[in-house]
Amino acid sequence: MSLIVQKFGGTSVADAEKIKAAARKAIRAQQEGHQVVMVVSAMGKQTDALVTLAAEISDNPPAREMDMLLSTGEQVSVAVMAMAIHELGSEAVSLTGGQIGIKTDSSHTKARIQSIDTERMKRHLDAGKIIIAAGFQGIDDDLNITTLGRGGSDTTAVALAAVLQADACEIYTDVDGVYTTDPRILPDARKMDRVSHDEMLELASLGAGVMHSRSIEFGKKFDVPIHVRNSASFSDEPGTVIGSLPEAMDRAVSGAALTKNEARISIVGVPDRPGSMQLIIANLADVQVAVDMMVQNVGAEGLAEISFTVLESDLETALKAVERSAAELGADSVTHDANVSKVSIVGLGMATQSGVADRMFRALAADEINIQAITTSQIKISALVSREQGLEALRAVHGEFELEKAPSQRTDFGEAPARVPQSNAVDIVSRLQKMEELTIEKVELDDSQARVTIAHVPDKPGIAAAVFEAVAAEEIMVDMIVQGTGHDGQANLSFTVPRDAVAAAVKTTGDVAQRLGCGPVTHDPRIAILSVFGIGIRTHTGVGVRMFNALSQAGINVEMINTSEMRVNVVVDADKGKTGLAALEEAFADVIG
Ligand code: ASP
Ligand code: MG
Repeated sequence: MSLIVQKFGGTSVADAEKIKAAARKAIRAQQEGHQVVMVVSAMGKQTDALVTLAAEISDNPPAREMDMLLSTGEQVSVAVMAMAIHELGSEAVSLTGGQIGIKTDSSHTKARIQSIDTERMKRHLDAGKIIIAAGFQGIDDDLNITTLGRGGSDTTAVALAAVLQADACEIYTDVDGVYTTDPRILPDARKMDRVSHDEMLELASLGAGVMHSRSIEFGKKFDVPIHVRNSASFSDEPGTVIGSLPEAMDRAVSGAALTKNEARISIVGVPDRPGSMQLIIANLADVQVAVDMMVQNVGAEGLAEISFTVLESDLETALKAVERSAAELGADSVTHDANVSKVSIVGLGMATQSGVADRMFRALAADEINIQAITTSQIKISALVSREQGLEALRAVHGEFELEKAPSQRTDFGEAPARVPQSNAVDIVSRLQKMEELTIEKVELDDSQARVTIAHVPDKPGIAAAVFEAVAAEEIMVDMIVQGTGHDGQANLSFTVPRDAVAAAVKTTGDVAQRLGCGPVTHDPRIAILSVFGIGIRTHTGVGVRMFNALSQAGINVEMINTSEMRVNVVVDADKGKTGLAALEEAFADVIG
């Protein structure tokens, strides 16, 4: 018999009418022949109200008691939902996280699921009952109630779908699905029929607030397709399916995002030696500041430049930590800009296509938008721009890739990649005991690449566009791109290309650099790229710390860095590739899946 998990978020159970409507949906699914597990959130803004109440009583309430309090919101919902179902003539049973047997660790208010017992649920399902499961909560070994972090009901739903091997996991919410960009910011945005887990993870980290990131990690890990749809839609309109495949395999870009409130911090004149990045990151981790864009670039005269962005609200705390690190390292200076935004494009097809970065940069240049920093990953390109121009930048890139149109209507600009990305189907049973642990899939060494660096890139629009257009015209595939903010607004721009293309790339780049008034072009014909990739890299902070620690202890200098939700890449000296690989394998041995 098929089994379906239906999750209803706070807005979808905000009042009695909505609860009844949700109950009808579940009953309808049951009448269609499915076993049904409902996962419900607290009604409306109930969790916020409870948080406010706690704050009125204590500045620093014990985390255990916070969980005791917050979990009551979902307990109300499951009880009334079960009543609604009974009222409509079907049978239902409400269950708390503890009653289901959702075992978590003991980190109150941000607990992670360790295992789920399916026995009790199966018994009720086989007896013909609809299960109403409280979202967001679990229980630790000591029977304390725990919660999974705000928005955690999504994670409950996907986790239940995974352990029950459900045929579908439907997330009912107040939006129609996942859009190519936030429709509240850009009315042109288009609802996607499908988006891949990887793309959704990137989009979620860029602020697409549709789903709890951890729930998508789960979906990816256990290969659960997640169907996001609007609970208010009477006609049961299809929403967006987050699954293993993107919407269109032959289109490089699926979505775009603007992360508005970022702040940039740069450290210039950092001695280019092992351990610099490690120290900076570790000091930031100490004060619990999450680093977003992380850019380290090869510097001139043995001095590197390191830039990164943090949330604007973290700027002050971050600056203190960074100044401490800079002093310890003997760096030249620390600069910052509190008024920047990040515009990004995301797409699984990008990994196999050339000519995406230059199109993005050209679209920005055409609107006179200056790019202050660049990072790329396999499926994402991000550019830092002034906040004033943020919206314009988003509009420019969204329009450039014609994201407002259905994929089949967009201008073709590439071949369909030959290989379909591998889905992450893993042996579910073997993973159930450690459901939410960080999974590092592998550590990899790529020694096929060379590096090209342009020094002193003037801080004005159009330079990156010209460089990558010229390189794309030579049909050279560019892998990593890194541009930071250097001395006096003169940054270095580095990228990697296949070794056999480096001579051509250097020549082309040299011509462009000269024409545009940049500094000299240097290159390294042999570099090594070390990558750590897996699931949960962002939500499990500390991957970066561990990685940089391992490299620094092995005496390996990091020349360039870029990061994504699935992967952290660093460029090191070619001769250090093998040692670095071994160091990383050892550092992550306990979590390699
Ligand atoms: N009620 C919880 C919250 O508001 C969990 C959820 O809605 O997913 O964060
Ligand atoms: Mg909620």
